[in-house]
Amino acid sequence: MKKLKGIGVSPGITIGPAYLVPKLHQYVSDHRLPPEKTVSEIQRLEKALAETEEELKKIRAQTAQNSGAIEADIFNVHLLLLHDRELKKEIIRQIKEGANAAWSAQTVIHRHLERLGKVNDAYLNERRYDLEDVGKRLLRNLLGIKGYLADLKEKVVLVAHNLTPSETASLNRKLVSAFATDVGGPTSHTAIMARALEIPAVVGLKEITEVTRPGEMLIVDGQQGVVIVDPEESVLKEYTQRRIDLRKNHRALSPLKDIIACTRDKHRVIIGANIELPVEVSSVLAYGADEIGLFRTEFLYLNREDLPSEEEQFRVYRHVVEKVKPCPVTIRTLDLGGDKFASALNMPEEMNPFLGWRAIRFCLSQPDIFKAQLRAILRAGAFGPVRIMYPLISDVEEIKAARAIMEEAMAELKQENKKFIPSIPVGAMIEVPSAALTAGAISRYVDFFSIGTNDLIQYSMAVDRTNVRTAHLYNPAHPAILRLISEVIRAGRKAGIPVGLCGEMAANPALAFLLIGMGIGELSMAPLAIPEVKQMTLLITLTEARECAQKIAAMDSTLEINALLKKKYAEIMKREKKR
Ligand code: PEP
Ligand code: MG
Repeated sequence: MKKLKGIGVSPGITIGPAYLVPKLHQYVSDHRLPPEKTVSEIQRLEKALAETEEELKKIRAQTAQNSGAIEADIFNVHLLLLHDRELKKEIIRQIKEGANAAWSAQTVIHRHLERLGKVNDAYLNERRYDLEDVGKRLLRNLLGIKGYLADLKEKVVLVAHNLTPSETASLNRKLVSAFATDVGGPTSHTAIMARALEIPAVVGLKEITEVTRPGEMLIVDGQQGVVIVDPEESVLKEYTQRRIDLRKNHRALSPLKDIIACTRDKHRVIIGANIELPVEVSSVLAYGADEIGLFRTEFLYLNREDLPSEEEQFRVYRHVVEKVKPCPVTIRTLDLGGDKFASALNMPEEMNPFLGWRAIRFCLSQPDIFKAQLRAILRAGAFGPVRIMYPLISDVEEIKAARAIMEEAMAELKQENKKFIPSIPVGAMIEVPSAALTAGAISRYVDFFSIGTNDLIQYSMAVDRTNVRTAHLYNPAHPAILRLISEVIRAGRKAGIPVGLCGEMAANPALAFLLIGMGIGELSMAPLAIPEVKQMTLLITLTEARECAQKIAAMDSTLEINALLKKKYAEIMKREKKR
């Protein structure tokens, strides 16, 4: 038995045999060809190129149908790479020098990959993965290795060094029960795909492909980020039981999809979903969210060398809006900077990027980029209910400036006779202490507040949200955070505008109970977290949540607050067992 620790990127537990994605280089050798074979070898290459093209077009069409045109776009990049003249010329030159086609393709692609890896440009670096992906597909065709998962008879855990977009897009979901990879992070493509497919996944395991033999039993725990190879009997038993409990819980929660979150004393709580990619819309619908409470739009600007046009953005927003209609969609304007940078923008390196040229600060100083996004959102609003939300507001003047640019955008659209929503609700994200403390002033210029606790906590407590060493200090139940949240709720009430919360805190049912008691009306979270929060809401009364919140407001120990919440939540869950 061997236990490996990686990063859990998609929750759930799977137990099953390993399927090792073949390492193609093991099949390629440098056997030389006599000159009379050159012509037929070049024909073999042409045939493999044509087959690869056909496959890519097929996957592009399938992906467009299943996930949308934006997700399918990656395969256009692959087709472009496949048609790269230089690449083909180099491969043919090597064949003419006596190398076989597979060896030539492998060495030429490898050389290009090395070159791309050395370039100091995030966009070109990223293209490495695409070239690697296309290269593998071409090699498979040259070697005659067809449909590498085609021979499967039972469900397997896919073990790979890394899974490429086309590998994940073309795999048969019915036959793959989990992913385990050597490399990757929480936002890697494999992670996103696993979450979209809703199968457990652990990435960044470093040596999973080295320590696993084909067919060996694996336990994948996507919650804890653990993979156990060849488990002992007792461990297998423990995980089998845990998997049964999880499934039972999942089954018990699934009818909640169609039930609105209402406390026993008839207080309605709006449950929203946070999404980072349009593909997640299917999860929004599957988990029965009332709305998309936070649509992060950074993905449109990352991993590319140009900026998205207004038209491209409009198409994406409209697609999401139409898919979830009549549920409203809250689109957050660009939140670049901090830990997200776009290569097209040449953003300078800063000493403190989280305190620097970020989010609304960046947008207000780049009005053309900002206006293109606002125009796209306003136009999408003509196709379903949309709200706009500005990130990282720290001063009321920023709201006024953003409003002025939005009004310009509206005037332009009107003059151009373009369809748009003239009365779009506008909100401020409250994620900086200065905004929380001046929420009253800001409330005069907005239609709603959404508290972003992920940032509010890091800025209030001076704790970098991405630093593992200080993670123990990052505490949502700290009295200072609760007081700031209360301040925003009070200002919102006074102004008569709704106050929601879209930080990770909303996804924790015990904290969500406290937030409801404090007066938060909308909780927005990752789609997977929705069932548990809904379940809690159905089991409580607003009166008890309020009483608990009042008690906690008078407490000043984070430890004691957490202990009380834990006890209270356990008590709430006991009611479920009695039902
Ligand atoms: C937040 O800060 O709480 C938030 C929801 O925004 P993000 O996590 O994208 O910074
Ligand atoms: Mg934030």
